[in-house]
Amino acid sequence: MIKQQLDSAWGSHGLDVERDVAAITVNRWPHGYAYEYMDLWDDHAWSRGAGPHVTGRQQLGQISIANSDSESYAYVNGAIDSAYRAVRELTT
Ligand SMILES: Cc1cc2nc3c(=O)[nH]c(=O)nc-3n(C[C@H](O)[C@H](O)[C@H](O)COP(=O)(O)OP(=O)(O)OC[C@H]3O[C@@H](n4cnc5c(N)ncnc54)[C@H](O)[C@@H]3O)c2cc1C
Repeated sequence: MIKQQLDSAWGSHGLDVERDVAAITVNRWPHGYAYEYMDLWDDHAWSRGAGPHVTGRQQLGQISIANSDSESYAYVNGAIDSAYRAVRELTT
């Protein structure tokens, strides 16, 4: 069913589930909320665009980091923004 859903969503855009999906893991729990810096106890210079997470997400060869932690932003648009950044790192 998962493969059928992926095929419905992305098949017309080039995904071939039999070729492109090696395995699907369904028994893990998402990690919840990424840490966001707080003025109360974090360095005031740290923000979504600057801080240890920016160092931590540096590209390493053909590995780029995409997740909400790498944006220091707890919500799904942070994860989406990070995916966009990571793909650009690998393709530009
Ligand atoms: C209760 C709750 C409610 C939320 N509500 C909202 C909301 O209303 N709006 C909003 O914008 N955001 C919401 N969020 C936050 C949102 O879910 C996260 O920002 C987003 O899911 C982060 O995406 P991610 O890709 O960084 O990480 P995740 O979604 O956590 O994805 C990481 C994936 O990696 C998998 N994984 C982990 N370890 C391994 C491994 N070793 N091998 C293979 N796979 C692995 C996990 O199973 C998971 O599927 C909510 C979060 C929680 C917990």
